[in-house]
Amino acid sequence: MNAKLHDPAPPFDIVRIRADFPLLSRTVHGKPLVYFDNANTSQKPRSVIEAVDRHYREHNANVARAVHQLGEEATSAYEGARDRLARFINAPSRDEVILTSGTTQSINLVAYSYALPRLKAGDAILTTVMEHHANIVPWQLVAARAGATVKAAPIDANGELIVEKFFELLTPEVKLACVAHVSNVLGTVNPVREIARECRRRGIPLLVDGSQAAPHRRIDVQGLGCDFYAITGHKMLAPTGTGALWARRELLEAMPPFFGGGEMIREVRFDGTTFAEPPHRFEAGTPNIAGFAGVAAAIDYLDGVGFDAIGTHEQSLLDHATSALSELPGIRLFGTAAGKEPVISFLLDGAHANDLATLLDLEGVAVRSGHHCAHPLMQFFGVPATLRASLAFYNTHEEIDAFVAALRKVSRLLVAP
Ligand code: PLP
Repeated sequence: MNAKLHDPAPPFDIVRIRADFPLLSRTVHGKPLVYFDNANTSQKPRSVIEAVDRHYREHNANVARAVHQLGEEATSAYEGARDRLARFINAPSRDEVILTSGTTQSINLVAYSYALPRLKAGDAILTTVMEHHANIVPWQLVAARAGATVKAAPIDANGELIVEKFFELLTPEVKLACVAHVSNVLGTVNPVREIARECRRRGIPLLVDGSQAAPHRRIDVQGLGCDFYAITGHKMLAPTGTGALWARRELLEAMPPFFGGGEMIREVRFDGTTFAEPPHRFEAGTPNIAGFAGVAAAIDYLDGVGFDAIGTHEQSLLDHATSALSELPGIRLFGTAAGKEPVISFLLDGAHANDLATLLDLEGVAVRSGHHCAHPLMQFFGVPATLRASLAFYNTHEEIDAFVAALRKVSRLLVAP
C-alpha cells in the first residue's frame, strides 16, 4: 500500500503542533519543560484529551450489552477505534484486531493462548538480546511450564541485530520467533520484512513488538509479512491502558480464550461453554472504552500530521542531538545503527545515569535513566543503566540545545575534572 495515499501532507507547523499539546507549555522546577521521555509515554494532544472527556460527559455507557442510545454510542466509539486501528496498521480485517490494555497484554495473550498450548518439552522460542522485558518474560513463563527454552539472538556493538545469527538460531525446535520492530533503548529498526520472509520459509510464526515503531512510522502488517503485531496506545498519543494485537485470522481462530468472563462467550452452560469468534473471544470484561475513544482521536492526529512529515522532522532532531551530544567529553553512545528512530541512550564517564537524570530534572529536562526494562541489553553492554533521551515530532531543535546545555552544566557538578 502506498503510504502517500493516506498522508494528506499538510505543512509541518511545529508552533501549531506544540500548541495542541497543553502539557508542553508547563514549567518544571521553574524551567520550561523539555520532555524527552517519549519512548516511555508520549504526551497527548488536546483532541485526545477532549475525546476522553467527551466520552464521559456525553456518551458513557457499557459496550455491546445495552440497546439504549448511550450503549450504542459507546459501542460505536469502541468498535470505531477497532476500525481506525485496523486501517492504521493496514490489517486485512478489523476482526483480526484485538483491543488490549497495551503491548504487555497483547504479548501475554499470544504467550498463553497461542504458545503455551503448542509448546512441548525441548521446544524453543527465539527472541533477541535487545528486547523489552515484555517480549522476554511472558515467553520465559510459558516455556518453563512446557519444559521449553527461550533463546536470544545476539546484536553487534552498534546495537544492530546480527541477522545471520538470528537465522542460524531458527532451528526446527523453534515454535515462535519474537522481535521488536524498533528497540526502546537503541532506536534500532530491525529488518522485519527479511526476518518474516525467513520465518515463513521455515514455517515459524513471527511476533513483532511494534510499541516503539507505531509512534514514528506507518505500519503495514501485510507488507511486513509477520503473523502477530503488538502495539501500545500510550506511546502514540493515546491514553494509557490501550493497545492492540493484530494476528492472522487462521491463528486467532485456532487460539483458545486467555481471559474468561462477559462478552467473550457464545453460550455459557455448566455442561460446556462455547466462545465468541475473534476478536471478541479475547476481550472479556468491560474494556477501556473512553481510552479507545482517545485512540481514534490519536490516530486522526497522527494521520493529520502525516508520517512523512513526522519522519523528516524526527530524523533532523536525531541528527542534531547526536552531533551535539557527540561533542561532550566522555560521552558513550549506545546504539548507532543506520536509519534508527530518535532514541538516544548514552552515559557520561564518571557520572551515574540516575544522578544525571535527577539533576537534569531540576533543569526542567525529563529523560529516563535506568535499565529501560531491558536487562539483557544492559548485560550485553556491561552497564547497569543508561540515560535515554527519546524524541517525538513535537520536540524542537531549541529543546535539544537546552538539553545539551543542561547536560554540560550538571555534568560539571558530577564529573571530576
Ligand atoms: N515493548 C517495548 C519495546 C516497549 O518499549 C514497551 C514499553 O516501554 C513495552 C513493550 C511495554 O508496553 P506497555 O507497558 O505499554 O504494555
